[in-house]
Amino acid sequence: MDFGDAPEEAAFRIRLRAWLEENNPRLPASSTDDEYWAGQRAWHQSLYDGGFFGMTWPMEIGGQGLSSIYDVIVDEELAAAGAPPRPSVGYLVEGIIEHGSVETKRRFLPGIVNGRDRWCQGFSEPDAGSDLAALRTRAELDGDEYILTGHKIWTSYSDDADWCLVLARTDPDVVKHKGISAFAVPMHQLGIEQRPLPMINGITKEFGEVLFEGVRVAADNMIGAPGEGWALAMTVVSHEREPQQLGFAGRYKKLVKDLVEQVRREPDEYDADQLRDLAWAIVEADMLRLHVSRRLSERLDGVTHGPGGSLDKLLMTWTEQAVGNAALSVGGISPAADDTWLKVYLYGRAQSVMGGTSQIQRNLVAERILLLPAS
Ligand SMILES: Cc1cc2nc3c(=O)[nH]c(=O)nc-3n(C[C@H](O)[C@H](O)[C@H](O)COP(=O)(O)OP(=O)(O)OC[C@H]3O[C@@H](n4cnc5c(N)ncnc54)[C@H](O)[C@@H]3O)c2cc1C
Repeated sequence: MDFGDAPEEAAFRIRLRAWLEENNPRLPASSTDDEYWAGQRAWHQSLYDGGFFGMTWPMEIGGQGLSSIYDVIVDEELAAAGAPPRPSVGYLVEGIIEHGSVETKRRFLPGIVNGRDRWCQGFSEPDAGSDLAALRTRAELDGDEYILTGHKIWTSYSDDADWCLVLARTDPDVVKHKGISAFAVPMHQLGIEQRPLPMINGITKEFGEVLFEGVRVAADNMIGAPGEGWALAMTVVSHEREPQQLGFAGRYKKLVKDLVEQVRREPDEYDADQLRDLAWAIVEADMLRLHVSRRLSERLDGVTHGPGGSLDKLLMTWTEQAVGNAALSVGGISPAADDTWLKVYLYGRAQSVMGGTSQIQRNLVAERILLLPAS
């Protein structure tokens, strides 16, 4: 496949580059500062209003109906300009597109796409992470409303969310994954408490716990049919595991480039071990870039992704952690030094857990791709 820009793609790239010169919010990296999370809502809206967000989604929900190449151009140019990445809401959009009714899509998707409504994903619970089907949050029908009670944890963006996509048990009498339904729950109401969870790198605004105590949710806020929550969750997590969805390949390329420039400025300051760590990060970042390019090529040929998302997630995790190791090795951890690189390293630890742990991805690769017997 030819990865060069077609004339209209080149024109789009030039327009975006010019727009970024005026509109780059110059936020610190997501892994290093709460200021990033505080500014993300405004950044999403600004990107959308500029015509650079939602490139591939249908026009009726506020997208532009273009090919995935435009998302790749956006990711590349944002990373090259040191601008924040595209806010990652794609997995929610894809989940609602696939499982929501026409009315549900009309109600919820435009606000997610244009950034006016901020959403979080209430799947995990204290005793239901990898074993998500064991979740205990329950929703009981009362007239034309459900009453929701439960405890969600590790809920990204819950700090500033207007809505939460909540998985809850609506039928306790069927096998566990068949009794789950999905709801769009408005976050600003009595009975919902959000408690921030500080991360090891000092970030306090990225995620939290959310407690639901007798919260009333209109029955028509259910996304999909009763019992369709598990299928929706699988759609959402499979999209969450794609590196290109998150624009991560471009971000790693930029981090590695910054580290290479740092070494080039004072090459005698670095020993062979540090250079080896950096070399490994360069190799991993390039490998991920090529893998993402192949996925893009497949997507343009109409190939839909399946369990291969687990492989993508593993590759992305290896890359993030190789880049984090290089950041720590080359950037240093002296208390006197700027701790940005240390924070990049620390954030990399989360990558092997969020969106499904590396052990679970390996199980999925073994069972669904290699067709080995179930563990
Ligand atoms: C930064 C970050 C953001 C997140 N954002 C969200 C969010 O927005 N919404 C949300 O709902 N959740 C979110 N999560 C939660 C995430 O999905 C869970 O942490 C993850 O699924 C693991 O669940 P757990 O933490 O309960 O660990 P557990 O499931 O308790 O796992 C503990 C350990 O046991 C291993 N293990 C468990 N079962 C098996 C098995 N069958 N085979 C082999 N090993 C196994 C795991 O790999 C892990 O090492 C986020 C997590 C992080 C770190």
